[in-house]
Amino acid sequence: MFDFDTNISYLSGIGPAKAAVMQKEFGIFNANQFLNFFPHRYVDKSKVFTIRELLPNQAEVQLKGMVTDVKEVKQKRGSRLVATFKDETGSVELIWFRVTKWLKSSIKINEPYIIFGKTNYFNGHFSMPHPEMELEIHHKKNFVAGLQPVYPSTEKMSAKGFNDKVISKAMQSLLKESFAYIQETLSDEIISDLGLMSKKEALFNIHFPKNHQALAQAQKRLKFEEFFYIQMQLIRNKLVRKDKIKGYVFEQIGTHFNNFYKQGLQFDLTGAQKRVLKEIRADMATGAHMNRLLQGDVGAGKTIVALLTILIALDNNFQTAMLAPTEILATQHYQAIVELVTPFGITVQLLTGSTRTKARREIHAALEEGILQILVGTHAILEDKVQFKNLGLAVIDEQHRFGVAQRSKMWMKNKLPPHILIMTATPIPRTLAMSAYGDLDVSVIDELPPGRKAIQTVHRFDSARLRVFKFMRDEITKGRQVYVVYPLIEESEAMDYKDLQDGYESIQREFPLPDYKISIVHGKMKPADKEFEMQRFVKGETQIMVATTVIEVGVNVPNASVMIIESAERFGLSQLHQLRGRVGRGADQSYCILMSGVKLSNDSKTRLETMVRTSDGFEIAEVDLKLRGPGNLMGTQQSGVLNLKIADLVKDSKELHMARNKAVAVLTEDPNLSLPKNTALNRTYQQIHKRTSIWANIS
Ligand code: ADP
Ligand code: MG
Repeated sequence: MFDFDTNISYLSGIGPAKAAVMQKEFGIFNANQFLNFFPHRYVDKSKVFTIRELLPNQAEVQLKGMVTDVKEVKQKRGSRLVATFKDETGSVELIWFRVTKWLKSSIKINEPYIIFGKTNYFNGHFSMPHPEMELEIHHKKNFVAGLQPVYPSTEKMSAKGFNDKVISKAMQSLLKESFAYIQETLSDEIISDLGLMSKKEALFNIHFPKNHQALAQAQKRLKFEEFFYIQMQLIRNKLVRKDKIKGYVFEQIGTHFNNFYKQGLQFDLTGAQKRVLKEIRADMATGAHMNRLLQGDVGAGKTIVALLTILIALDNNFQTAMLAPTEILATQHYQAIVELVTPFGITVQLLTGSTRTKARREIHAALEEGILQILVGTHAILEDKVQFKNLGLAVIDEQHRFGVAQRSKMWMKNKLPPHILIMTATPIPRTLAMSAYGDLDVSVIDELPPGRKAIQTVHRFDSARLRVFKFMRDEITKGRQVYVVYPLIEESEAMDYKDLQDGYESIQREFPLPDYKISIVHGKMKPADKEFEMQRFVKGETQIMVATTVIEVGVNVPNASVMIIESAERFGLSQLHQLRGRVGRGADQSYCILMSGVKLSNDSKTRLETMVRTSDGFEIAEVDLKLRGPGNLMGTQQSGVLNLKIADLVKDSKELHMARNKAVAVLTEDPNLSLPKNTALNRTYQQIHKRTSIWANIS
């Protein structure tokens, strides 16, 4: 038997000192964790190159030859060591930038060496700084063929001489001792269905790949497994939540829904809207609590889906609430809904911070009596005084403005929590949605209503500003309105406000009163002043809106057709996309102009090019994910889910999809993992679960 809990200080090749570093630097305490300490890359030593074969910009290469001379070259500070290394086809220079006695004395002249390293090419000559060198006779003795692992390392590890060779040696003896006892962690069924490598073979080949193919198989297997158990946990959490938290059953579709669908809808729903509506309907009919994220790009038509969902709730004699993050948005939703549903005798009210006391009292009373059917509003809805007789559904627009705590406050007002539908216009890449939100229900409207005019997006340098002003003037003459947005990034706030003020002044000079009127909105203004300026623009009293990103969320001014984004290189992709979504809402051709300086980082270039190339929010989100990585995209709250050891959310989406599908299939057939064929799955799941919940308690 082998005990995988053995402390690593007892493993051959790792003494207490090395074990201590390993624990500190990587949190690796026992043999099992050490086995799962994976190389982060491999170097290919399967081939010995001749010097004539070398190419500029090559990866690391292995050469065989002899050192013919060594000399020390004095420099301003210290000296370096330069050796000539020859084979039958040519010569390269070996260079060491730090000379030690030991180094000088250990290099043997005219004896065959195998050397390895990265080459530099300059003036027709190759050199190799700090090569790994081994006399050929020793090399034969220690011969390790082909791909060699390179492990993650830190300075403290190097200081203790804990290098790849030492790790490999320790790993080799550990594998030798434990190999027979390594348990399979997937079921035979999954392994044969997907043609995966066994756990033993995978662990062996991830450390000591027999060849490229075996390495690829090992990686596939281990990546799949990592994703698979995360998915098992997410899907199980979801099942448990659905099992535990009961919800109202909306079983009927009645007159409200049917009448509106037949007579109130001014267009046909898109295929995506229909599919999503079906998902929501099915969910609300099960008796479990719905907690669903409704994703859809700007303008995809989420509101009408939300309204139809509201009508289903009304058909089941429940009240509904719709929350928006700002007063402007709440008012816009309210006006749109009133217009659509009052012809059908449905009652709607608006409740915000500025609702007068008398109106407020009437709303409170109507809610408690149950005669008010739809309440639209801001945070004001969440106050304790607001009591519903029977709230069955809450629609929340732009989720990030509302904390979970506030949401749960709403739940407590009832015997059962109302169903929750969260609308968000921030497209989340599918891979991320599956992992970070894997335990939520997600509906995606991935199709825009027909006949939308694509927004024309261009990138202009600051030097083209006069032409941009002329373009603004032309559009304003046609009766359109224009946004000019400045970045506001907290660390450099003072400077940003100066940019905004300077920009505002130059626009005032270019667009003087009385012909032109300008609104300005930024974060340092009082809410009431902001609101006032916004309203002037919404009503068309001003033609230009100069603003920081406060207008990002939701504002709907169909007559605004030009979005100018200043210092666009400083905005993130999703922010640029959100801002652009403020135009293109009316019948006119709309434009987005991205202004920037000429000096652009590669990432900035990619962001601007992406914006010019596509308006597809999901495509943009994928690029964003590649640029920023999942951690930054989601914030830290989900880091547990995203803290992957071997798999990569961006590169390994194939394995992720496979894992998701398998996990769903397994849990659908055997929710408690009690079938004999799933013994290995159950055992592994319990082990992982135990580990993670211990950690959860500690942290
Ligand atoms: P968002 O998803 O950004 O909230 P909205 O719900 O505000 O989008 O819809 C944007 C516009 O598209 C609205 O004017 C709405 O009436 C219209 N719309 C929604 N669905 C359709 C459809 N299926 N066909 C045509 N127009 C639609
Ligand atoms: Mg909307």
